[in-house]
Amino acid sequence: MAFVRVARDGVPVTQAKDVALDASLGKRFTLKTDVVVVGSGAAGAMVAYEMAKAGRDVLVLESGRYYPSSAFTEHLGDTMTKIYQDQVGQVNTTADIIFVQGACVGGSTVIGACVMEEPGDDVLDGWAAKYGLDNLSAEKFRPYLDTVADQLQIHINEAHEINACAHKVIQGCEKMQFSWKPAQRNVKQCALTGHCLAGCPSDRKMSSLVTHLPWAAAYGARIFSDTEVVKVRTRNGRASGVEARVTDPDSGAHVADMQVDADLVVLAAGAIHSPLIMQRSGVEDRSGQLGRNLSIQPFTQVMGKFKEPLYGFRGALVGVQVDEFTRSDGYTIFSGLAEPESLMAQGDMKAGKAHIDFMKDYKYYAGVNAFSTDQGRGYVQWDGDAYTGGKTIHWNPNREEFENMKASAALAARIFFSGGAEKVFMPTFQSLEVDSVFSLDEKLSEVDYGIKGMYTFRSNSFSPHGTCRMGADSYESVVAPNGEVHGTAGLFVADASLIPEPMSAPPQWTVQALAKYVSDQINAKASSYFIG
Ligand SMILES: Cc1cc2nc3c(=O)[nH]c(=O)nc-3n(C[C@H](O)[C@H](O)[C@H](O)COP(=O)(O)OP(=O)(O)OC[C@H]3O[C@@H](n4cnc5c(N)ncnc54)[C@H](O)[C@@H]3O)c2cc1C
Repeated sequence: MAFVRVARDGVPVTQAKDVALDASLGKRFTLKTDVVVVGSGAAGAMVAYEMAKAGRDVLVLESGRYYPSSAFTEHLGDTMTKIYQDQVGQVNTTADIIFVQGACVGGSTVIGACVMEEPGDDVLDGWAAKYGLDNLSAEKFRPYLDTVADQLQIHINEAHEINACAHKVIQGCEKMQFSWKPAQRNVKQCALTGHCLAGCPSDRKMSSLVTHLPWAAAYGARIFSDTEVVKVRTRNGRASGVEARVTDPDSGAHVADMQVDADLVVLAAGAIHSPLIMQRSGVEDRSGQLGRNLSIQPFTQVMGKFKEPLYGFRGALVGVQVDEFTRSDGYTIFSGLAEPESLMAQGDMKAGKAHIDFMKDYKYYAGVNAFSTDQGRGYVQWDGDAYTGGKTIHWNPNREEFENMKASAALAARIFFSGGAEKVFMPTFQSLEVDSVFSLDEKLSEVDYGIKGMYTFRSNSFSPHGTCRMGADSYESVVAPNGEVHGTAGLFVADASLIPEPMSAPPQWTVQALAKYVSDQINAKASSYFIG
């Protein structure tokens, strides 16, 4: 076993303020490394750990800030303004879907809801057959999933992790004879505070902040926060490093420009930003698929009001999932009601006194998130110069996807009514309350596709994927089966953008297994990638 030096304070991170104070660096500096990893979330942290453990010099560049667990206040508002991408303002072009993403050391894992689900064997075997990804067949890929399960302490919720909100879902399912099961989560000895989305102050959530990043640092990986990679540099068609800029996260002031010379570049900036970095860099897009096939797993929050106080926001955030329709229709319902503050973003859209009255009743509510599977028709696009241009995210439901979103929300409402709800709040822009299951269909008929801004759904995406599709055919996919970008040697992708087609399972487990797989592919051919 190798002896490594473990930092006293968890993750040692070089922040913008450290760069500003280091006179030896100046306003423009160059670093050399074997591997530069772009992004420190689910995938980036895993790659950093695997590469550093294999003896490589690793540099991790993260555009978000370093926000240690000791800074978490359990108030979602504090976290949203500090470590959510664009302060939760990352939206599609019609601004009706929020693409929620972590922007910090540890990425989205820091604010994740902790639900862990594997892709089914049929999904993996389907990818293997359709995209020439033999190594992702269930038989070959399952060991990677098992490793992640061990590392993240994934377990099936025990009885004490199923709160009152989840019990209402169970009651409804039992009455309707729908299949449900306790969720699996990556939490070690959950303290049941229910504040997962605001960050876990007691480090029980096995996010990258408390797993792969400190482990990578123990093997010598260097981590920079506040450092946005702008471009991948290439020489003779081969990746040779990156250009990045260091920015003060509070003032927005430019601190320094960084150049990195590296043997390998691994993009792990997530499914929105990894393809954008490639577009900014002018990386060859032979397949025409770069940034395309964006799948978002849209979900809406449906709330039920019950007679008795539930305090449904206390206890484990996600207790159970309804899997009756997952395979047949692609809908999955997860129990979960975040703390009252977050209702501002997700709950009923009343204003003034009506809103105050609504909030006063918060203890009577249970909530679920109703997910549906989309068709992966979206895309992301960078317009303009790499430094001064901007991104757009294009995803709007077609009629079929809209009807699926509606059906999954209606299903959630039926479960609540069967569980004893006296009222259900539907996730529409214009407030829509339903008093009885008998009026549900009539009320929902008011929610029609195409009436823009009136009754369409308030929807979020936590889990974009697919924008750098992996596959053997370089004319159909962006990334080769070993993780290397088709046509650009030395440039790898390891994150959620690899997932070759829309999936219904929450993706973090899959993403981390893919990142380990890509790392193994690199390590297996180390002598051809690294000089010395
Ligand atoms: C609120 C929330 C709850 C979620 N809950 C669950 C759940 O319960 N179960 C589940 O399976 N999944 C969940 N997810 C989704 C899951 O977290 C993601 O699928 C997973 O983290 C994706 O990993 P990734 O490495 O692709 O991206 P991320 O983990 O998002 O990491 C990408 C990182 O790259 C950084 N970055 C972006 N651009 C640049 C750049 N130019 N330069 C440098 N760094 C950059 C970002 O700041 C970010 O830190 C949730 C996501 C969110 C936002």
